[in-house]
Amino acid sequence: MTRIELDGERCVGSGACELLAPDFFEVGDDGVVAVLRAEPVERELRDVEEAVRQCPTRALALVPEQSPAPAG
Ligand code: SF4
Repeated sequence: MTRIELDGERCVGSGACELLAPDFFEVGDDGVVAVLRAEPVERELRDVEEAVRQCPTRALALVPEQSPAPAG
């Protein structure tokens, strides 16, 4: 599983990510994007990857989800 990470300090509210993947990103009234869903499934990855690539300030990243540590 892959997870979207947002660095809100870097976001300038350009809206590029929202255009490319509107199910995942929405620019708020404060001019900073909100991540609507952080965990895209396989078939959604292409749009999200493109949104991450197109962010002009590199505010977005896709990182592998940590698997839970084994108990004990
Ligand atoms: S593309 Fe980047 S800078 Fe633009 S709204 Fe999305 S996260 Fe913010």
